[in-house]
Parts: sequence; structure tokens; C-alpha cells
Amino acid sequence: MKEAFYFSRQEGQKSQCQLCPHNCLTSEGQSGICKARINKEGKLYSLNYGVISSMSLDPIEKKPLYHYYPGSQIFSIGTLGCNLHCPFCQNYQISRYFEENTNRFFAQFSSEQILELAKKNIAASPSCFKGIAYTYSEPLIAYETVRECSELFKNNGFRNILVTNGFINSKPLKELLPFIDAANIDLKAYTEENYKKLGGRLKPVLETIAAFKNAGIHIEITTLLVTGLNDRMEELESLVKWIEKLDKNIPLHISRYFPQYHYQEPPTDLHFMEAVKKMASSYLHYVYLGNIPGESSTFCPKCKNLLIERINYQTNIKGLINQSCSQCGRKADIIL
Ligand code: SF4
Repeated sequence: MKEAFYFSRQEGQKSQCQLCPHNCLTSEGQSGICKARINKEGKLYSLNYGVISSMSLDPIEKKPLYHYYPGSQIFSIGTLGCNLHCPFCQNYQISRYFEENTNRFFAQFSSEQILELAKKNIAASPSCFKGIAYTYSEPLIAYETVRECSELFKNNGFRNILVTNGFINSKPLKELLPFIDAANIDLKAYTEENYKKLGGRLKPVLETIAAFKNAGIHIEITTLLVTGLNDRMEELESLVKWIEKLDKNIPLHISRYFPQYHYQEPPTDLHFMEAVKKMASSYLHYVYLGNIPGESSTFCPKCKNLLIERINYQTNIKGLINQSCSQCGRKADIIL
């Protein structure tokens, strides 16, 4: 087990984790809300250090990142655990691994071994981007792994991508950001009440998104539209207005929910998704519907020229010259 970063020892062999806003106070043998960090004799240890639950080469659009090296593949890894408790989690086998008493065994890797795996996979796929995505379960709960890997990968000329719920304290985030190049961050709702239902809080997530943006990191935001949870147009309009205030060029992915795990409401209504897209597009330049088949192309916000054609995960760059619109010359907010 690896001694965790960011905790303080407290009286009576207690330990306070300072990684995420839960700030769990634990006694000997107890783990925090994420179940991925355990108290042993007053010190906190990571239970998912170097553990890889999933590894794959994915289209970068699957993260989803639509404006960052479009059309490339990305070497992706996931670990175990999560600090939120979304009842509709699509990856609950790994995010809830520590609570579900699963007998599945996952191997442990050093950062150097992960780098070697990445190099091999990337070399075998000509369309693969020189980088790594930390995804599938919540990467920030495997902070020690992500931090060590991201430093090593950066020093070896690789880029680091995070796909995260953004529920982290500002100090560990600030110390990780210099190694991160791009991120997709979930903004799961826009009321504290709804975030509470998911086991989190809205304010720290908004602070995380703003911190990424202020650090100059490429970000895209995903909101899963969950039937009966965050599907009030009024709340969604407030969410979109907040993004607009931060930067109206940030791509927003509005994703379709499907029944999963402990949540069995019907899938998000497609007409409602279209209505949300229409509303969001009146504030933001780039709004996409996700988790539905079909076209999801990028158009120039100024002249409506087709910049990138995207049909499912087939991506064709059509109207870009030097990262600008080939028709009107507007800078396209896309990193190629
Ligand atoms: S990372 Fe885990 S142990 Fe630490 S505060 Fe968050 S939920 Fe608690």
C-alpha cells in the first residue's frame, strides 16, 4: 500500500483526508467515503495505487473531447473507486468496487510500467495520440497514481488528459494542474440539492472547472441529463449561463442517460434533449448531444461553415486551415 498524499494525523490514531471536499475523518481500520483510502495507525494509505482496472485505445471523441486532436485515438486507463455516489453510474463495477465485494482481481503497475504499456500501444496504432487519458472510474481518487504518472508522462513528452467529476480540494488540484493538458469535467447538476443526491457538492466542482480554465488547460464539460433528477429546463439554463460567463467557447456535451445500477427511470427523452441543445446553443458556441447515434458535427459559430464532420465516432476535418475556419478565418477553438 502506498502512503496517501494529503492527509493530516489527528489525535487518537485518527486521520483526516484532505484530498477531496468530503475531508473524511477516519479511525484505525476505517476508510473514507470513497473506500479507496484507509487509516492504518493514524496514517492514510491508498488502496488503488497503481491498480489498473481497465485499459484501452479509444477514439478521443469517446472521452468526450471533440475539440482536442479530433480523430485521434487515445491510450486510456482506469483505476478503482469514486468519491461520489451516483445511483445511475455506468461504471459501477469499478467505481463501487470496494463496496460491492467483488472478487475480481486487478493487477498493479508502476508508473514506469504504465508508460511502457502506453508506448507499446501507441506505437501499434498510427492514429494514436501521444498521450494518456485517466478515465472510466474517478481518476482523482487514485491521485497518487495519476500524479506520479502525469509527471512521468509529461517528462517523456506525452500529454495527460483527465476525465473527472471535479470533486477535489483546491491544493491537490493546483499541484496536479501543471501536468495536465486537457480535461473533460462533469457538471452533473446546477443545484446543491441535486449534487447532494449524488453525494457531492456543486460549489467545489464549479471551482475546479474555473481552476482548469484559469490555468489555460483545454476543457470540455459533460452534463448527463438524468430523467427525474436534473431535467428541469430552468436549472439547465442556469448551468449553461454559468459556462457562458466562464467562456462561451467551452464545448458542452449533453449526454443521454440510460437506466443503470440503482436508477431505473426511463432513458432521457430525445425531444427534451433537442430542446436543451437549442436552449444551450443560444448561449454557447459548441453544444453536442452525446450517447445517441448519428451526426454531431462542429460548425463555425460565425459563418456556419462545417469545420469537423462527426458521424458516430467517424471524424473528418473538413473546414479548418491552421486551426481557423477555412471560410471566414475565425479562430476555431480546436486544437489540432
Ligand atoms: S478522497 Fe476519499 S477518503 Fe479522502 S476525503 Fe475524499 S472521499 Fe474521503
